[in-house]
Order: sequence, then C-alpha cells, then structure tokens
Amino acid sequence: MYQAKDQGRNTLCFFTPRMQADAAARSALEAELRVALQRGSIEAWFQPVVDAAGRITGAEALSRWRHPARGLVPPGEFIPLAEQTGLIQQLGRHMLRLACDQLVRWAGSRRTSHLIVAVNVSAREFRHPDFVGEVVRVLEETGAPPRRLKLELTESMLLHDVQESIARMNALKTLGVGFSLDDFGTGYSSLAYLKRLPLDQLKIDQSFVRDVLTDRNDAAIARTIIALAHSLGLDVVAEGVETEGQRSFLLRHGCLRFQGYLYGKPMTGAAFEALL
Ligand code: C2E
Ligand code: CA
Ligand code: CA
Repeated sequence: MYQAKDQGRNTLCFFTPRMQADAAARSALEAELRVALQRGSIEAWFQPVVDAAGRITGAEALSRWRHPARGLVPPGEFIPLAEQTGLIQQLGRHMLRLACDQLVRWAGSRRTSHLIVAVNVSAREFRHPDFVGEVVRVLEETGAPPRRLKLELTESMLLHDVQESIARMNALKTLGVGFSLDDFGTGYSSLAYLKRLPLDQLKIDQSFVRDVLTDRNDAAIARTIIALAHSLGLDVVAEGVETEGQRSFLLRHGCLRFQGYLYGKPMTGAAFEALL
C-alpha cells in the first residue's frame, strides 16, 4: 500500500521480497536511531557562514550520526526516517540543545560572542503544539542567548497554516530568535505570504548557486532572490558556494553572506573553533 502511495496513489503495486527487505532494514535503522538518540551518538557539525570580507559570522548546525558499524551517517539517510517515525521531535530537541550549548561556549569570549548558530527545523517539529515551549525550554535550560539563535524553516511548512506559523514565529521573535527561509526558490515562493511572515533571512538554494555562472535561468533566479530579499528588508545568504566565481557573481549582485565548501565543509565543533 505504501509503495502504491509513493508512486502517486490510485495505482496497483505487487509485493516483492525486496519490499520486505527494505521494510526490515527500515525498522532496524529506526531501532538503532532510537538508541543513538539516547546515547548521544547524534552530533552537531558546524558549517561556516561568512560575510563579504570572508569573516565568519556564524554557522549552520548539521546533524551527523556516529554509527558504530557504518561510520558517520549523513542526515539524508536518517532525517526522513526520523520524520516518518516521529523521532524527529526528539532529534530536533537534541540538535537545538547542542546548538545552544555551542552558543553558551561562544558567549564567554569577545572573539566568538557575535557568532550566530542556525538550526534546521522540520515540518513536523514546527507543527507540534508545544514547539514554542520546547524552544523556550532549551534556551532557558542552556542559558543560550536567544539573539544568537536562528531557526531555518522551509516554505511548505509555513504555508500549511500561515496564521498559526506567524503566531509561533512572533512568539519566538519577541525573545530575539531569528528566522531564515531555507531552500528558497524551490517551493511555491508565494510572494503574498512572504511579506507577511516575520522572517529575517532568505537562503538561496544551492541548486541555483551550482550553475549560476553557466545557466542563464539560474543566474536570473539568484539575482531575483537577492533583489527580492533586499526590497523586503531581509538578509540573504547563498548556500552551496564552491567557487570564487560563484561568490563574485553573487557578491556583484548584492549577496553579502555565503556558505559552502569554498569556506569549509561541515565540521565538528572543535574543528570549527580551530578554524576561527
Ligand atoms: P540543508 O539545510 O539545505 O543543508 C545544506 C546541505 O548542503 C548540507 O548537507 C551541507 O553539507 C551541504 N552543503 C553545504 N555546502 C555545500 C557545497 O558547497 N556544495 C555541496 N554540494 N553541498 C554543500 P547535509 O549536512 O548532508 O544535510 C542535508 C539536509 O539534511 C539539510 O539540508 C537539512 O535539510 C537536513 N538536516 C541536516 N541536519 C538536520 C537537523 O538537525 N534537523 C533537520 N530537521 N534537518 C536536518
Ligand atoms: Ca538548512
Ligand atoms: Ca538549504
């Protein structure tokens, strides 16, 4: 049934032993993920975000699972599973806590106290009735400065119930928490909603940045997003910046924040501090 639904519904699908194997592998992975969360084997890695002068202004926290047999597992392999099983709630809280712990460490020194940490929030977490309460609790328990925390949301999760989304964002904004719209340009990009949402930043999706120098459409989209951000009074950051050429194109069109392999891959907190 799930296979048929995945194929767009209203279709037939025959059972194959492969499906059974996949289902078994999924449930084994789920059990392992549950244990990993209890044992703290999910780590936060940090990828630098830099300004026009190349100075590090903060980092995006990205989850990595240190698996005893498989080594370091990237989020693409367990976030969807966590979302399907509801473990995302726990995972999100864990990542938020790790990010806040990092902020507390950085708050102690003049050299690092300005750094912003961005955390990804999944749709299911954001829609949880106690989402705001959870964030507030983690901020209070860790003592992290709310002004240094940024939450990355995606459009689809905000458009589900715009009024409620705005209310939730505003509740956290009064504490100083910032909001960034991730993967911008890949969804509906509804301009009517965009101006109503209390956002601070747009993130240009890496799919536009990748070919910004060779694909005229991608270049046009990137330029348009930058102009849109400026006219709405929002910050704009380009992600997936890998080359100097991409950076100078984006800079030339008014983008002043960059994230990508050109500046550093996601790294452990210790490696990030060494880079600083
Ligand atoms: P994202 O939020 O769009 O994060 C950016 C992804 O692009 C990261 O992949 C990062 O490693 C990768 N990246 C950064 N710079 C470059 C570059 O220059 N070139 C290329 N090719 N890739 C680059 P990662 O870490 O594998 O994360 C994948 C996705 O998993 C994230 O996409 C995010 O949607 C999700 N994710 C990661 N951690 C969390 C988390 O703690 N919670 C939630 N809900 N989602 C998470
Ligand atoms: Ca992100
Ligand atoms: Ca993104």
